[in-house]
Amino acid sequence: MVMQLSDLFGRQIKEQEVPESLITNSACHSFSAFTRRGQNVICVRCGSQINKQETKLAIDHFYCANCLQMGRLTSSDNLITINEPNQFNYTGSCQWQGVLTNDQRNCAKQVIASIDKRIDRLLWAVTGAGKTEMLFPGLEHAFRQQLRVAVVSPRIDVILELAPRLRTAFPDVTSCLLYGKTTEKYSYTQLVIATVHQLLRFYHAFDVLIIDEVDVFPLAGNKQLHYAIQRAKKVTSSVIYLTATPDTTLKQQVKATKLAVSYLPRRFHGFPLATITNVKVGNWRARLTQRKLPPQLVTAIEQRIIKQQPFLLFVPHIADLKLVSEILKPRLNLPIITVHAKDPKRVDKVRQMRNKETLFLVTTTILERGVTFPLIDVLVLGADDDIFSAAALIQIAGRVGRNVKRPSGDVYFYLHKRTNAIKQAQREIKMMNKKAGFK
Ligand SMILES: [Zn+2]
Repeated sequence: MVMQLSDLFGRQIKEQEVPESLITNSACHSFSAFTRRGQNVICVRCGSQINKQETKLAIDHFYCANCLQMGRLTSSDNLITINEPNQFNYTGSCQWQGVLTNDQRNCAKQVIASIDKRIDRLLWAVTGAGKTEMLFPGLEHAFRQQLRVAVVSPRIDVILELAPRLRTAFPDVTSCLLYGKTTEKYSYTQLVIATVHQLLRFYHAFDVLIIDEVDVFPLAGNKQLHYAIQRAKKVTSSVIYLTATPDTTLKQQVKATKLAVSYLPRRFHGFPLATITNVKVGNWRARLTQRKLPPQLVTAIEQRIIKQQPFLLFVPHIADLKLVSEILKPRLNLPIITVHAKDPKRVDKVRQMRNKETLFLVTTTILERGVTFPLIDVLVLGADDDIFSAAALIQIAGRVGRNVKRPSGDVYFYLHKRTNAIKQAQREIKMMNKKAGFK
């Protein structure tokens, strides 16, 4: 399809990719892809400093190695943009039929106020709080004012789960879904659902930018992606950060009152967060290398199989998946399904668990968030391993009790020593339950 003028609204596109007939349009602005800051050369698209030795093409001529995935930019390139004109005509309404809890409604009101005032806000909502639904009133409000909105996340899984829910709730809004292997062609839409990486192609486009699971890799501590966010939003705009586990940077901004915050400490069904039970099992790692598991863990697994109680068994590393499954297989006489981030059958295995075709999965932290199995227990082998941050442990515990039919459940950590991360996770769960009015 030929590029339209509207494809340049709020975007930054390499001049060579734009047809000549469009560039001559008076609405188009062009700017140099690179800029100088003292001795340094900076890529304007992604904000990275150019490594002049490694990316030299000719004398005083370089390319950016840090945003190559968006097409190579060199120091002789220009980027083309057209100021975001908000050419929308939204008259629809939200089709979601559910009812928000009082807590959700209060947060939703604060989100609307932030959008109106064009200020940023952190929505600190516990796991299972129903934060997507809580956004609906704010989204409807923004769409009706013909604002342009992006809902983004560092995680593709999160985006893929969000997109159908948003499109079902707002069937009348124009939207496009953008991520690495996307098949949808870009077109100018009022709602953009995307991975954070995709924001590198936008320039002062969004009046409202919502970032879900803001604290996870690859966004956490990634300067390039934070630059992309700052550049993709309009100068006057509202950024809404969503997470159950804000990182230190966000918490500090809240503390310094630089960032407004809404807490949602209560789950949508009104029951408290499941708390963690620590089970000390001695040196589990040494045992594992002898091809043995802590007997307490084996018992817990066998009990759940007898009761047909679904569960996830988390292990620290990909290499542990094979070990654990080889130990369990002869003992349980069952097929053991394992899953990790790069597992090509990951989506299918998650589906099997969701459809109750398997009682349990053995998994790495990849299933810590973004995926919901309503009625499960969680067992963590080696919860004291360095790989498990406090945030990861809170998210893992947060997989339990997601459904009103079984609003609680067991979270068992099998460990040698209680680490600071475990202590912090327990403290935060306790604090959120207290904030929600539970003892
Ligand atoms: Zn770059």
